[in-house]
This record gives sequence, C-alpha cells and structure tokens, in this order.
Amino acid sequence: MTSPILDYEPDELAGCLMSAGWPRYRVGQLRRWIFARKTAEPAKMTDLSKACRAQLTQLFPTTGEGENRSLFSGELAAVSRGGDGTQKILLQWPDGQRVEAVLLRDDRDHRTACLSTQVGCAMRCAFCASGLDGFVRNLTRGEILEQLLRLNALLPPTERLTHIVVMGMGEPTLNLDALIPALAEATSADGLDIGNRRVTISTVGRPDGIRKMAAMNLPYKLAVSLHAPDDEVRNAIMPSNRGWGIDAVISAADAYFAATGRRVTYEYILLRGVNDSADQARRLANRLNRRTAIVNLIPYNPVEELAFRRPDDAAVLRFARTLEGEGIQVKVRFRKGDSIDAACGQLRRRMTL
Ligand code: SAH
Repeated sequence: MTSPILDYEPDELAGCLMSAGWPRYRVGQLRRWIFARKTAEPAKMTDLSKACRAQLTQLFPTTGEGENRSLFSGELAAVSRGGDGTQKILLQWPDGQRVEAVLLRDDRDHRTACLSTQVGCAMRCAFCASGLDGFVRNLTRGEILEQLLRLNALLPPTERLTHIVVMGMGEPTLNLDALIPALAEATSADGLDIGNRRVTISTVGRPDGIRKMAAMNLPYKLAVSLHAPDDEVRNAIMPSNRGWGIDAVISAADAYFAATGRRVTYEYILLRGVNDSADQARRLANRLNRRTAIVNLIPYNPVEELAFRRPDDAAVLRFARTLEGEGIQVKVRFRKGDSIDAACGQLRRRMTL
C-alpha cells in the first residue's frame, strides 16, 4: 500500500509524481492546494489536468476521511473548544496511539499551533501529565505535520497559522530527526509559510540536545524549561536533571544563543511552596545574571492526579517583581485552555482512561 501524501518529503513527492509523468510546476500546484488552500481533494484542484487529478487518486491511499483521505494517516478522535477561542484536537494513529495538539488564539491575532513530538514522554517531570504513563514512541515527520495541517484547517479559509510552539507532549530534542524536517516544511514558502522567528522549541533542557540544535544553527527560538533556581529543587521535580545539573543546562543554552543569535526563553512553572519564594526568585536572577534572556513565568496548571498547587496571584506577582528588580526581563504567561484540558497531556489521559 502507498503512504499518505504527508509522509513524503518534498523531494520524494516530486520524484514520485515526476516519474508518473508530471512536470515539476504541477507538483508546486499540488502543494499550493494542500498547504495554502487547505484541500487535498483532487476534484477541487481545478488548475490541474483531469489526468493529473485521476493519477492522484490512483497514487495515494483513499482510505482516510473526506477531503483529506489521501493526505493524512491519522484520524480525528476528538475536538474540544474553549470559550477563549482555544481548540484542542486528539489524533489517533493507525497503531492506536494518540496525541493532542492545540490551537491558541489571542487578541494580537496570533494563531498558534502547539505541537506534540512524542506519544508519552520519558522525562517524568513531577508536575506534568504527559509522562504519567511513560514513553511510548516518537512521532514521525508526517504525524507532526498532520497536527499542523489539521489545526490550520480549523481556521476559516482566509486565516492561517501564524506561530508554532513545540510545547505539547514529548521531549523535542529526543526526536529532532522528525521535528526539524516537519518545521522546515511549516516554514517554507511553498509549505505553510510560517516565519522562522515565530517558531519556538521548548525543551526539558537536555544539554546534548541543545548543543546539537546549536550546531544545526537553527533559525528557531529556544525555550528551556528551567523551573528551579538550583539543583536541589530541579532534581526533585525534574528527575532528568540528575544526569547533568542546572549549570550544564544554562551553558548549553548560552551555546544556542551564541550560535544562533536567538535570545533564549527560560520557562519557570510556579509551584506553591516548592519554587515560588522571593529568595528563590533572587537566586534564579543570580543564575541568569547578565544574560540576554527572558523568564516566562507559568502559574502551575493543576493536573488531577498530581498534588502540586498553583500559587495565589500575589505570590506570582511577588516572584515576577523580584526578578525584575534584579534586572531580569519577565513575562507572566496567562495559560489558555484550562477549561478544555489543553495543558500538557491532559486530554489524552481523559480520553484514554
Ligand atoms: N518537553 C518539553 C516540551 C513540553 S512541555 C519541555 O519540557 O519543555 C511544555 C511546557 O509546559 C514545559 O515548560 C513544561 O514544563 C510545562 N508544563 C508541564 N506540565 C505543566 C503544568 N501542569 N502546568 C504548567 N506548565 C506545565
């Protein structure tokens, strides 16, 4: 059986169609239908010859749903919608595994896709729902792209995705072989044409992975999930840190900044009584001293199975002000999608339990 169209790298797709007799420009027309005009339905591709349209039906599988039957390998298992314009999809792959992806909208007209890179996660951060059932497998390049096209299709025909955050399920640095080619298509002019600077990859902070990304000289932004000012707290809530320590994480992030010129964002979840004191804010500022960095504070989003609590707003503000007082640039991320289990592996758990 042949593979769905999204499973082909751009060159492979061109090769496959050209060996079926297509001129190259026709391949470009097909890509425009798929990526810009959001359809893979041959009958709608009016600028393609009848023969080409018939070939598409012969060359690619026709087993999926509706217009996109030849494009995707997954099935849409659930869609949920929050009052704030957030939408979340649950995709099921042919092996029965499921991942989630989220569309976030804000008042600046940003339409952001939040993508998963793995089924489950091996990192076992104590506050996160994604790793509760352990790691299952990496997603393929096609499965990552499918999340993007499915979210893009939720938008009205005239709107498209403007940003990507790789902050869904999984650890991106453990699946760069699939992620980077998927992002290349997301950002290419004949793909989804999303600006390179509008793509952020978030990592648990594996120094090897970050250095590998630095060596690739990627045009994307890097976000590092720091979540603690020292090894004592970081080891306790992020067991992966025991393998390398916080200094190694920060110096790898420095290497990314040096190689790419992209300012690194440090994410910091605020967990009540664990990492939210003013003293910890001061120590965090010391660690990041004189760096061109920004700290993104994320009040913890409660997960049913876990005992952590979100600090009250006054404590969040105190932490932010203390960091600012030490000269650190701070953003407090208002988390969207709480009402639809949009955070971190929660929808998948609900739907699979
Ligand atoms: N593995 C990557 C990307 C996935 S998580 C990483 O660790 O960065 C994306 C962000 O959401 C991370 O900063 C993660 O620590 C955070 N996160 C996980 N669970 C959360 C929760 N319950 N509330 C708030 N943020 C959470």
